[in-house]
Amino acid sequence: MESPTTRRKFSPSLENIRMSPIVLISEEARARAEAFEASGKTFIRFQRGEIDFPTPAHIADALVEGVAKDLTRYPRSGGEDFFRRAVVERLRRDYAVGDLDPENVVAMYGGQQGLELCFKLFSRGAGFSPTWSCVLENFVPHAGIDFEEVPLNADFSIDFDRVESAIRGRDFFYLNNPQNPTGKVFSRDELDVITELCTRHGVFIVADEAYERIVYDGLEHQTMARVQQDNVISVFTFSKTFAMTGWRLGYVVTRNEHVAKLLRLGNYTQTAGITTFLQYAGAHALTNHSASESAVHSMLDEYTRRRDTLYEGLRGLSGVHIDRPHGAFYMFPNFTDRIPARVRGAQRDRWVYEHLMEVGVATVYGSCFGKHFGDNVRLSFSATPVPVVHEAVDRIRRVFS
Ligand code: PMP
Repeated sequence: MESPTTRRKFSPSLENIRMSPIVLISEEARARAEAFEASGKTFIRFQRGEIDFPTPAHIADALVEGVAKDLTRYPRSGGEDFFRRAVVERLRRDYAVGDLDPENVVAMYGGQQGLELCFKLFSRGAGFSPTWSCVLENFVPHAGIDFEEVPLNADFSIDFDRVESAIRGRDFFYLNNPQNPTGKVFSRDELDVITELCTRHGVFIVADEAYERIVYDGLEHQTMARVQQDNVISVFTFSKTFAMTGWRLGYVVTRNEHVAKLLRLGNYTQTAGITTFLQYAGAHALTNHSASESAVHSMLDEYTRRRDTLYEGLRGLSGVHIDRPHGAFYMFPNFTDRIPARVRGAQRDRWVYEHLMEVGVATVYGSCFGKHFGDNVRLSFSATPVPVVHEAVDRIRRVFS
């Protein structure tokens, strides 16, 4: 029976959050996978951002040690000293950023919480399109942000005039590097120009560095935490670097004292701090350099093999434009020249996706990442061993040759 409360609308910050199409895709993939696998063939899950490596043992062991040490009390606001010192040290060691102290670091539950709180600082923002879907579906509506999508060029280069006109009068620019879904790694020059533009226009930069350690071809990640200005906020996570997606640990770094204070208050309000033994294991991951580096490098070697297999396998497909991803574990090919012109609207959005789903390859269609790259699909190789990638290449080639 309906009561007056049945149809009640609740706070817009929650009512306006959109259900991710990627969740729907995953449900669809699950249903299709069953039928597909019943016929004895592998269903290829290229739609996921999940990782198939276990968390390195030395980090898992440290968690147990943290509990044994009775690190089980209410956490210190903003993060335990040992955690924040470990972050300061790793930024010095890994990026030669030497002027930070623990007050510049705020512990978070993953990049997710760090970003969510950063978006809440503001009301008008901009960022490149395509962009990580969670920004558009969750952070922007939750924080009630007026957000402008600034399209990258078709080859994922930047039109700086568009950036400049988009940021005028806005509070912040969201900059994800390396980028999900394109795999683009921004060059130092590109970052410098963006920084200069934002600074000149009094705009903050929210730098999402989730994939900082997943870069290929000898490139070096350029952290925004090196920029000694108070309009830069960098968000880091353990999820991707150390295959710790389920641990939910991350941190924000900023030289802006007031921003750090607000983020501490926000974090305290939401969760009263971060699990202390979790921070202990995280600090261990950052300070036990040799064990962590060897784990990171072996994952990176495998991602590189997968990326090469996928890219070399698909490039040259007629009418399919593919940029070689230099970072993260995604590829974002464009199919404009393959989708018949008569196919429009929602059907067009799903055309490549449907064709690939039919051969047992689940992807994410481009419109999930904003309004500008609907003819692309995202292929994720974060959880597909090389033989599976080979199989995917064969199937995709059969569909589009
Ligand atoms: N940024 C980007 C671009 C991501 O793709 C993700 C996760 N998929 C995150 C941030 C957040 O990751 P986490 O909350 O696991 O740290």
